[in-house]
Amino acid sequence: MKHIIGCRCVRCGSIYPAAPDITICSCGGILDVLYDYDAVKSKLTKDILCARTDHTMWRYREILPIEEDTTPRGLRVGSSPLYDAPRLTDQLGIGRLYLKDDGLNPTGSLKDRASAMAVTKAAEAGYRTIGCSSTGNAASSLAGNAAAAGIATYIFVPARAPKGKIAQLMMFGAHLTVVDGSYEETYALSKAAIEKYGWYNRNAAVNPYLSEGKKTVALEIVEQLGFKAPDYVAVSVGDGCTVAGVYKGFYDMVQLSLCDRIPRIISVQAAGCCPINTAVMTGDGWIQQEENTYADSIAVGVPRNADKAISAIRDSGGIAVNVTDDEIRAAQRTLGKTVGVFGEPAGVAATAGLIKLCEQGVIERDATVVSIVTGNGLKDIDSAILSVGEPPHSQSDLAAFERLINDNKV
Ligand SMILES: *Cc1c(COP(=O)(O)O)cnc(C)c1O
Ligand SMILES: [Zn+2]
Repeated sequence: MKHIIGCRCVRCGSIYPAAPDITICSCGGILDVLYDYDAVKSKLTKDILCARTDHTMWRYREILPIEEDTTPRGLRVGSSPLYDAPRLTDQLGIGRLYLKDDGLNPTGSLKDRASAMAVTKAAEAGYRTIGCSSTGNAASSLAGNAAAAGIATYIFVPARAPKGKIAQLMMFGAHLTVVDGSYEETYALSKAAIEKYGWYNRNAAVNPYLSEGKKTVALEIVEQLGFKAPDYVAVSVGDGCTVAGVYKGFYDMVQLSLCDRIPRIISVQAAGCCPINTAVMTGDGWIQQEENTYADSIAVGVPRNADKAISAIRDSGGIAVNVTDDEIRAAQRTLGKTVGVFGEPAGVAATAGLIKLCEQGVIERDATVVSIVTGNGLKDIDSAILSVGEPPHSQSDLAAFERLINDNKV
């Protein structure tokens, strides 16, 4: 990969060649892919990008870690819509709010960006099987993208994973194991199994290419805003791979002079599980926490990408904010009603955090903000119905319906 200098450890600075199945540094630190931006600059300009007809995440392949002759694998990932949200903008009293709906990716979450990268790298390295542990979306997106690529998957999810995600995994033909334990215990089992059987490792903790896939969400935002960065970008945070990817995407665009700055990151975690935000707020290292939130995709008590995530939030001049499950439910209804976007609980957590900061007067009244919706609400119908309630029933005659209307039941 001529456009790549190597992979640098975020802890000790050691640099390794970018092998397709590289994992972590010998010191235990996670790796970050280093690009030769000077070499890329002339190959990825505004004009070149605008003329491109590839509307997938691979339209940015000059700053993605794949070989020049590699054919990308997996499903059609990326180019999710960036919605203008005028009614919610007014409600929040800010300059302009956009919603990046990544729940519209093929398996319904932003994780597709990492999984398409994982199956492409696994195929490059000649692997036939990939292993991963996940709270749900990393698994279902891996299973779908691997099915498309003809690669087998062994997947471990904690028992609390919602039915919709389990259904996806079974449909995509994954070898699925539901682990009776926390995400931490699930992760440990997957690690042991991957080592024992020699599968390609799609754990975001150890695979530096996954946040490179996820960064394409930020590359798209810059392009969709006409090569500008917003003032803030709100992201929900679990393991920390997504927020690290978002930072990296804006960083790349600045290095390539395709936008002028990195937006301030609003890092949103659940109040019942917020080790990364706690570390950002206190300035100390992160400490393991319990996983007390119904937003399953961000219930990560032992974040594996904490180092990258904490530097991303700090270096962007970011803000950490925690939200309760009730605040997440309220944001889910607000997004549905005012924008027409239905996100899963973790998917709307970023917007819940933004709403909270606006109510506290923290966000300037002329600010432009992008809030990323990371997962589709149809993945977790049970918690959605708990949040909105059951609908009214009527007999099939007009008089019965009129009684409902007159009683304000519909
Ligand atoms: C995985 C996920 C996140 C958080 O991403 P991390 O990389 O774990 O921080 C947020 N929302 C949804 C819907 C997810 O699936
Ligand atoms: Zn190191």
